[in-house]
Amino acid sequence: MSDKEDLRLEIPSYAFIALARRGMEKISLDQCFLKDCDNEDPELLEPFKKEENEEDLKLIKKIYIKCKKCNRIFILKLEILKKVAKSTKDKDGEALSMGLVHALDENGENLGHIGYF
Ligand SMILES: [Zn+2]
Repeated sequence: MSDKEDLRLEIPSYAFIALARRGMEKISLDQCFLKDCDNEDPELLEPFKKEENEEDLKLIKKIYIKCKKCNRIFILKLEILKKVAKSTKDKDGEALSMGLVHALDENGENLGHIGYF
């Protein structure tokens, strides 16, 4: 049970979507990204597994989430760019976008680029 709570902490609360000419829109990641599902209730979303993969310049985390509304599984893929993270630390500590979020379905099919966190 505590493992699952930890997984929840791995997921950023929000992602930012770049809108052409209109700045950024903030969206909650507490929602089901599968087609034909409108679940936005965190209580009905259960992260249950994490895969972590480290590459030269980025860290990739995949969080598997079960949606209890449509009873399907989707994956939030978080790409954290290490170089960016490092350079922001050296400067004024301002939090810049340094991660990308994608949603994948259970089979790893891309459901789309969600945004930045
Ligand atoms: Zn769902």
